[in-house]
Amino acid sequence: MPRTKSLATLINHYGNEREFKLRANKISDVYRILNREIFNNRLKKPFISIKRMSGALGLFEFNPYASKNCYKIILHNRFRNFQEFVEILGHEMVHYYQKLVLKQNSAKHNKEFYSFKKKFKKIGLNLKRVYR
Ligand SMILES: [Zn+2]
Repeated sequence: MPRTKSLATLINHYGNEREFKLRANKISDVYRILNREIFNNRLKKPFISIKRMSGALGLFEFNPYASKNCYKIILHNRFRNFQEFVEILGHEMVHYYQKLVLKQNSAKHNKEFYSFKKKFKKIGLNLKRVYR
């Protein structure tokens, strides 16, 4: 990864052509950038795991009864390209924000969810319900 931690630099570095295989050590930098650029650093780092999934590229889970890691983001292990990974992580972070900050009971694709579309767009990202 290049040392300059700007999102445009990272996206440019990986390019659009290559499939992106996600490894745990690639998550923190992107998480930090998105938290700063989109969520005003209001999100604490949740538990994030990588899992091969069918039918989803990312999931957000909230379990109020868990003794730790009440908030979980699960990411698929392969993405079409780096940008797709960033967009999926951002999408799940919106759900996390809905739960953690807005205290919404169901973190759905509602008005508050789409209110982040502009901020995504500003840094060159799409916020959609489904990506493929
Ligand atoms: Zn969603």
